[in-house]
Amino acid sequence: MAIATQNPATGDVVRTFDPHTPEQVQEAIARAHATFHTWRLTTFAERAVLMRTAADLLDADNESIARIMTLEMGKTIVSARAEAAKCARGMRYYADNAERLLADEPVEASTVGASTAYARYAPLGVVLAVMPWNFPLWQVIRFAAPALMAGNVGLLKHASNVPQCAMYIEDLFRRAGFPEGAFTTLLVGAREVEPILRDPRVRAATLTGSEPAGQSVAAICGDEIKKTVLELGGSDPFIVMPSADVRRAAEVAVNARCQNNGQSCIAAKRFIVHDAVYDDFAEAFVARMAALTVGDPMDEGTDIGPLATMGGLRDVREMVEDARAKGASVLCGGREPEGPGWFYEPTAVGDLTTDMAMYADEVFGPVAGLYRVGSIDEAVDIANSTSFGLGAVAWTEDAAEQQRFVRDLDAGAVTINGMTISYPELPFGGTKRSGYGRELSGHGIREFCNIKTVWVA
Ligand code: NAP
Repeated sequence: MAIATQNPATGDVVRTFDPHTPEQVQEAIARAHATFHTWRLTTFAERAVLMRTAADLLDADNESIARIMTLEMGKTIVSARAEAAKCARGMRYYADNAERLLADEPVEASTVGASTAYARYAPLGVVLAVMPWNFPLWQVIRFAAPALMAGNVGLLKHASNVPQCAMYIEDLFRRAGFPEGAFTTLLVGAREVEPILRDPRVRAATLTGSEPAGQSVAAICGDEIKKTVLELGGSDPFIVMPSADVRRAAEVAVNARCQNNGQSCIAAKRFIVHDAVYDDFAEAFVARMAALTVGDPMDEGTDIGPLATMGGLRDVREMVEDARAKGASVLCGGREPEGPGWFYEPTAVGDLTTDMAMYADEVFGPVAGLYRVGSIDEAVDIANSTSFGLGAVAWTEDAAEQQRFVRDLDAGAVTINGMTISYPELPFGGTKRSGYGRELSGHGIREFCNIKTVWVA
């Protein structure tokens, strides 16, 4: 894939970039490695000053970086501004809390025959982040803020279609005063990742993206005995039970499916609705989906912009056509508007069966699958029937049902009467083929630490 900014709303190539040469990559790794040896000795207070400065700079840049995000991957300008603001909040969270989250953990020394004994969270060193385009700032910041606050240094291999976002992030940390080499963007393609992972100076890797990419990075890191965190795909269920506020559930469901033009790993993708409220839910949901405004993502009033890549549009189109050909009913949408750009209408599909690609695979676009169920057992079974386990949502006012969903939904997060959202304070990650490890919260900042046991006679 060429490293280029290509406007998904028009298909025009706006700017191309020369990839970094192998020599430039080597220099970047050497610089990062050298910087780690001094960076790890800085105090939390010193790091926090720089992190807060970076957050302030990001707030000041909100409009300009939002426009770059929208240009490069087509998210609406309104959601791009919100993403930049969320990043600043995440940076401040780790500036304020890293020291507490990584405090030494004492144990009762006499029980281990010591005068003092504790666990210390020590930074690992150079960590490579391989990141996707869908939240081009947030995906990176939620790695970078905790990693830098823990005393690690970062290398970024961002998705090839968001190079301006990638370079902005390096520049942001540099302007905030982080030392040269603390955070470096490498403009390289996917094929150049392997030698970086195999470099002994690179100690760990995190990847957010597709299953094949995760498998490749994990296999190489397994071979090298290096720690990985994987945040992969999802096909999150959104369950609606008879006691739910069905109108409200339908309203939230549309946002849960269509946020980020339908390209979010934690978007609700399968709507599993109890027979008693199915018709009411479907009517309200389809009406709201059909009323969304599809158009130029730079326009303030647009709800749905284009898909980020032509390949992504093709995948969505093929999955809907596969379902249609096998007997599914398309309740709204299911078409591409006329004109340039990679747009797809908000779509709802009912009568799905297990032989359809949409049943088991992730649909990365504004396309919802609707399932009718007769019981909570059936709802849980269908919810857990995919290979993914990222987020899961259930709507019910019944306390016993709520506890049943919390216990039995096989996912990294269960949300009751809402939609899955990430917060700096809460752990984020998946089970099954959605990946392993956690980002955000104390769990996230400890992923790239050596838990060092200290025992003093
Ligand atoms: P992708 O193709 O896997 O790309 C993600 C990143 O991995 C890009 O930087 C890409 O580089 C790189 N990459 C691709 N193949 C690679 C390989 N074999 N070795 C090393 N690096 C490789 O994913 P995408 O299609 O852009 O993103 C969508 C996917 O990400 C969806 O499945 C979505 O659910 C998932 N996602 C998950 C989370 C989460 O937190 N769980 C969050 C967001 C997205 P190039 O761009 O150069 O190919």
